[in-house]
Amino acid sequence: MTAGIPHPRIDTSKPHPARVYDWLLGGKDNYPVDQRVAEKLPEEARGNAARNRAFMHRASAWLARGGIDQFLDIGTGIPTEPNLHQIVQAITPTARIVYADNDPIVLRHAEALLVSSPEGATHYLHADAREPEAILERARRLLDFDRPIALSLIALMHFVPDDQDPYGITRTLVDALAPGSFLVLSHGTADQHPELKQETETAYRKGAIALRMRTRGEVEPFFEGLELVGPGLVPATEWYREEPAPVVERSGFYVGVGRVR
Ligand code: SAH
Repeated sequence: MTAGIPHPRIDTSKPHPARVYDWLLGGKDNYPVDQRVAEKLPEEARGNAARNRAFMHRASAWLARGGIDQFLDIGTGIPTEPNLHQIVQAITPTARIVYADNDPIVLRHAEALLVSSPEGATHYLHADAREPEAILERARRLLDFDRPIALSLIALMHFVPDDQDPYGITRTLVDALAPGSFLVLSHGTADQHPELKQETETAYRKGAIALRMRTRGEVEPFFEGLELVGPGLVPATEWYREEPAPVVERSGFYVGVGRVR
C-alpha cells in the first residue's frame, strides 16, 4: 500500500540509476538525461542488465519452488515484466512480497507492483536501503519475521559507496531474518571486463551517479556468516541455468544466494 505518501517530484534534470537501468533493459520510463549516461556505457551494459534480470527470475523461482513464500526486495527498480511477484506467485499464489526503492519514479509506477494474485499480497515501501532499521520496522508489519524470508538486494549495493557502510546495511537486514531465510544478491563487477571498467565508471560519474563496482573479494563479505547455495558466488550467467551458458558470454555481475543458518 502506498496510500498517504505524497508523490515526490520526478527530477528529469539529472540521471537516476533506476531510469538508466530501465533504458538498458529496453524500457520506456527514462528521460534524455538517463539515455545520455546509458549511451556512454560500453556496448556490453545492455546484455549485462538483461543477464542480471534473468538471474533475478531464476533465483526467485528457485526459492519459491523450495517453499519460500515471503520476499523482501530492496532496490526493486522500475516495473519490468515479469516482476518478482509475478514469478513467485505463478508458483505459490499465496506468496507475500514487499518491494522497496528510494526513487520517486519507482513509487509512481508502484501500482504495477501491487497487482497481487488474489490469494497473496504485495506491498510497496518508498524507502532508502541506507536506513535498514526503518525498512525492517515497516516490513515487520507486512511479513512474518519468525518464518523464512528471501531478502533480495539485486543490482543495488554497487550504488552504495564504501563510506555509506554497504556491508553493515546488509548485516543489519540479514540479522533480522529467521533461520532458513535467504539473501539473494547481485553486484556489478569489472572482474570479467577489466578493459571496460574505466568507460563504465566515467559514464556514471559524468551523470553524478556514484557507482562502486567491486571485485570478487569485495563481494564475498556480503555473504559473511551465510551458507552459499548451488554454484556459489558466480557470474550471473552461471547461476543455475537450464541450458549451459555460451562460452563467450561474460557477465558484469557477481551473483549468489546465501542461506541463513
Ligand atoms: N533489482 C532490480 C533493479 C536494479 S536497478 C533488478 O535487478 O532488476 C537498482 C535500483 O536500486 C534502482 O531502482 C534504484 O532506484 C535503487 N536504489 C539505488 N540506491 C538505493 C537506495 N539507497 N535505497 C533504495 N533503493 C536504491
